[in-house]
Amino acid sequence: MKYNRIPLVAGNWKMYKTPAEAKQFARLLREKAQGLGGVEVIVCPPFPALPAVATELAGSRIGWGAQNMHWAPEGAYTGEVSGPMLQALGCRYVILGHSERRRHFGETDEQIRQKLEAALTYGLRPIFCLGEDLSIREAGGAEAFCRRQLQAGLSGLGTINPADLVVAYEPVWAIGTGKTATPADAVAVIKALREELADLQNEAVAGQVRFLYGGSVKPELIGSFMQEEEIDGVLVGGASLNVDSFTAIIRGAAEVRGQRD
Ligand code: PEP
Repeated sequence: MKYNRIPLVAGNWKMYKTPAEAKQFARLLREKAQGLGGVEVIVCPPFPALPAVATELAGSRIGWGAQNMHWAPEGAYTGEVSGPMLQALGCRYVILGHSERRRHFGETDEQIRQKLEAALTYGLRPIFCLGEDLSIREAGGAEAFCRRQLQAGLSGLGTINPADLVVAYEPVWAIGTGKTATPADAVAVIKALREELADLQNEAVAGQVRFLYGGSVKPELIGSFMQEEEIDGVLVGGASLNVDSFTAIIRGAAEVRGQRD
């Protein structure tokens, strides 16, 4: 059975851009991405910039999301932002389990599982990030490790609407380092993750959920990733901060996808 998964190019702006800078970027992106069809595009700005970006992108084909959220709907959690708060802004996507959150803020698999559950409850689509570090890859354990992270994140969630979940395979050693996995390495892990998802959910869900690659994606590399049927798009950090390089990535994805359709 062949599933038609719409490719997704997502930009993670991390802790960059003031609301004014983000607004300016969104305006330019809207102009420059015109005519690049066949690929869904979203940007994930820091929280304070979300309203300005939402206003600027309203009515365009570019979407937006957040970079994190808490699992509780509200409560005494100083400094946190909840799913219902994002939902009230009109937020559609939320990055969860990013390796920078795991590393710098000690997020655990169980917390990420709770966040995934909360995101789905409040109508947000999680972009669930997972990936191995270098020592695990060198020891040959990447696929098994990523399968376990997927399992931990999705355990007990019940049947998922496949349109609501995106999984981003982001090897930790490739994020912000300039080193990329080869498309073949990414395909091998994504195939293993799809198999795991079929076991956890079912074949139809596994066949329809989109799996992205993330880790130092640049315009010159996008074609080689998008040529792989298993890879449904990319999560881009550094190269999404510049409107020209992000647009070039979108264009590259749209060109390859156009050939495939
Ligand atoms: C990311 O932040 O998810 C990411 C992949 O970053 P970079 O593209 O900079 O490696």
